[in-house]
Amino acid sequence: MIPSLLKIVCSGIPVLLLGISFQQDRFAVAREQMVNQQIEARGISHRGVLAAMRKVERHHFVPEAYRQLAYADQPLPIGYGQTISQPYIVAYMTELIQPRPHYNVLEIGTGSGYQAAVLAEITAWVYTIEIVEELACQAEELLLNLGYKNIYVKAGDGYSGWKEHAPFDAIVVTAAADSIPKPLVEQLKEGGIMVIPVGGEHQIQTLKVVEKKNGKVIILNVAPVRFVPFIHKE
Ligand code: SAH
Repeated sequence: MIPSLLKIVCSGIPVLLLGISFQQDRFAVAREQMVNQQIEARGISHRGVLAAMRKVERHHFVPEAYRQLAYADQPLPIGYGQTISQPYIVAYMTELIQPRPHYNVLEIGTGSGYQAAVLAEITAWVYTIEIVEELACQAEELLLNLGYKNIYVKAGDGYSGWKEHAPFDAIVVTAAADSIPKPLVEQLKEGGIMVIPVGGEHQIQTLKVVEKKNGKVIILNVAPVRFVPFIHKE
């Protein structure tokens, strides 16, 4: 009895490990396909962005129930009525800020923490603000567990930015605002770029690139998009 029980207990471990590594391999294949077919094939060419999209394990950032869809070409629910953005949108917004290794970046809308992780692979510092406290806590814990030491998460309304760490080389807003928040423009460095979706929940939203150049603010419309609303109480 005892030897056979031992046999089951002991042989269970390698089977379990084999199962986990099989999953990991499947995720690695899916991730590579995601970058090839959804990101590179659609024109993203920034080397840092492509490397980060290949490296960050998106399946950790989606709820268990959606894990098999982690590398699919779509946004996914993360609870509290919020979503993790479609992989292509994450890559596209990251490329738009032209990230460089020394960059100090602010993100508004931490959500799952995935966009923050992608940014942190490329840039020196990432400050990210999330209005849903539970999501901010979950993301902070996950990012720490994954070993990120250059990401700071704060729970609160990102409308006013994060003055203590400003100015920022780049700002990425991942919720659709009615208009461009003034404090965020103020916290952008000279030469800095902000990407922000603008438009109401049921309207066509426009992804805008805001650039501060020679003291002037230049705004470009780059693509129609669909984001969850930017929550702000006056
Ligand atoms: N970047 C996220 C996507 C999050 S969706 C990711 O990679 O998973 C947008 C997020 O913005 C939601 O989690 C929402 O709660 C948050 N949000 C909305 N309004 C906000 C505000 N005023 N300040 C901070 N976060 C906000």
